[in-house]
Amino acid sequence: MELLKQKVISEGIVLAKGVLKVDSFLNHQMDPFLMREIGREFKELFAEEGITKVLTIESSGIAPGIMAALEFGVPLIFARKQKSLTLTEDIFVEKVYSFTKRETNEITVSKKFFAPGERVLIIDDFLANGEAAFGLTRIVEQAGASVAGIGIVIEKSFQPGRKLLLEAGYRVESLVRIASLEDGKVTFVEEE
Ligand code: 5GP
Repeated sequence: MELLKQKVISEGIVLAKGVLKVDSFLNHQMDPFLMREIGREFKELFAEEGITKVLTIESSGIAPGIMAALEFGVPLIFARKQKSLTLTEDIFVEKVYSFTKRETNEITVSKKFFAPGERVLIIDDFLANGEAAFGLTRIVEQAGASVAGIGIVIEKSFQPGRKLLLEAGYRVESLVRIASLEDGKVTFVEEE
């Protein structure tokens, strides 16, 4: 996605240990026009998949997730990282190790929002080792629903998440793919 690539080039900041900071348009301040385009791009990519729900994880997945859900005309569910006091009903729980925070979170989703047979599109802001995405796939599968695909805004292709998800049989579509963040410089995967 050219617009997103340009944003990454002009505003992304490479931090140590292979982390990209994009808090001017995705992770803190958010660019609504870019988010709208991101939603449209996911719609185009997964248009034939019969999506009935979008699932993401708070907080940075919510903006791209809601824009995708709007395009598909379906609800968005976001997995919570903290147990909510109002989340008293039956919940699905999965453990997810956070790449950026270096800690394990329990993520939870209320059972009432999933019906068996649903076709779920998983959306997240970044793909690194695939921990968050796999946690979300386990929730979908616990619910007896199926993963229709995984849509990622920024994939760090030098980490194993994509490969592991493909090996597990999931369809993965990333709007930009980063080959390297070495020497403080963003290099994209060459698309054939
Ligand atoms: P994974 O679970 O695939 O190892 O990592 C993906 C999650 O970690 C995303 O939900 C995202 O919040 C966070 N993350 C991983 N790498 C980066 C990064 O380079 N920059 C930012 N801002 N977040 C990242």
